Amino acid sequence: MNIPNIKIYNTLARRKEDFVPRDKGHVGIYVCGPTVYGYVHVGNARPFVFFAVFARYLRHIGYEVKLVENITDVDDKIIERANKEGVDSDEIATEYSDAYIEDTCALGLGRPNVEPRATEHMEDIINFCKELVEAGYAYETGGSVYYRVREFLEYGKLSGQKTDQMKHCELAREGEAKESPLDFAIWKAAKPGEPNWESPWGPGRPGWHIECTAMSLRYLGAKFDIHGGGRDLVFPHHENEIAQAEAVTGTAFARYWMHNGMITRKDEKMSKSLGNIFLLREFMKKYDPRVLILFFLGSHYRSPLEFSERNLDEAAGMLERFRNCFWKAESVLQELAAAERARAESVVSEDGPGGALVAATEKAQVQFHAEMCDDVNTAGALAAAFVLVRAINEYAETAPVTNEIDSQLLRDARDRLAELLEILGVKFSPEEYTQTGMEQELLELLEKREQARKAGDYAAADAARDQLAEAGYEVRDTPQGPKLVKKS
Ligand SMILES: [Zn+2]
Repeated sequence: MNIPNIKIYNTLARRKEDFVPRDKGHVGIYVCGPTVYGYVHVGNARPFVFFAVFARYLRHIGYEVKLVENITDVDDKIIERANKEGVDSDEIATEYSDAYIEDTCALGLGRPNVEPRATEHMEDIINFCKELVEAGYAYETGGSVYYRVREFLEYGKLSGQKTDQMKHCELAREGEAKESPLDFAIWKAAKPGEPNWESPWGPGRPGWHIECTAMSLRYLGAKFDIHGGGRDLVFPHHENEIAQAEAVTGTAFARYWMHNGMITRKDEKMSKSLGNIFLLREFMKKYDPRVLILFFLGSHYRSPLEFSERNLDEAAGMLERFRNCFWKAESVLQELAAAERARAESVVSEDGPGGALVAATEKAQVQFHAEMCDDVNTAGALAAAFVLVRAINEYAETAPVTNEIDSQLLRDARDRLAELLEILGVKFSPEEYTQTGMEQELLELLEKREQARKAGDYAAADAARDQLAEAGYEVRDTPQGPKLVKKS
């Protein structure tokens, strides 16, 4: 199979570029994961979902993908929280990394191939710091090690920052003397009560930026394909990662940089420090995880996305429309199966409903792939899926009336739709849209109505029907008996 050409917007080049992998047929992706000092929120879930879906798509078109997503488990924020609660920092890190795994597992998108943690890669990190010092790009002061920003002439190439105008600077820590205010710590000397590891500069712990550089190179090697993360990480985190990596390897670090836009609330970035977060686990209590996936995928990954009631309702509406379409197709297929013997062989004409369904199925698939290959335009891909939804609905409604229905055609179109949605991580199981998968309670009510009707107790039958209506279902009488159909 020939892998189609895909284009991605490269932050480094500031334009869309053809994607050419380093190793033919293989894609290596590194994504910055969470710092585990609290439960992850919906904003943290966006890169997790986006890159999981992107990897699914790349695999679907024939690539072998290695997705690496780190967990930062030693950091100032973790230490701060541990001190506040009077516990060890690794206790906090363990508790919240477990919670992160649990919460993101519930999305049903699987796990990245590797989820490295800083504390498990101390040797790599210390060796990397050593190499930077030996090459003259870093220096020790007071037991900490700093990166000499001015030494790396290409500093600023990702974010467009100019070193002589840079405002964002890390403050020197107590007892340490930075050569320049621009320099950032790659190794931090341990303060009393802090977690620490032995190093050539005494006990200490790594800076955040060095962790991602060391671990991405460890798992993917120099010139790896794609480095991703939230837009807010471009500077200084990703800029510093490049400076560290390229100073040591003397060659390109990651060749493509992809950044997702921020999740906002009332136009402000959702972030812990602003106190406007919505926890992923709280979300899951209220909504189907697929609503979150559709909420993210309904917009382009690079755009900011407002976490609002309206946008969530829209995503929930999409899920409902997909479910109803499967439901409708299934109901018709069941009716056809029961009536098979009575029906003469169907005749499908090109200009009839069958021809329209075949054309729409083809069109939806072509459009879906064109959108996904164009900088992963998931919103466009969903629009393509809805082309198919409308065609299936129309066929299921009109074809039986004109007596020009072909169950294989309908089944094929439905399976294509399921396949496209599954690539996006939105999965439907047949139990969801067949009667057997319905809640027992609803089926009992339906049975009650049927019994009452047969017994001539129309008041009781109507009462049962009203209760079903309240639950959002209408009763449809079919040749195979009464069925429940979710009201749209
Ligand atoms: Zn990172």
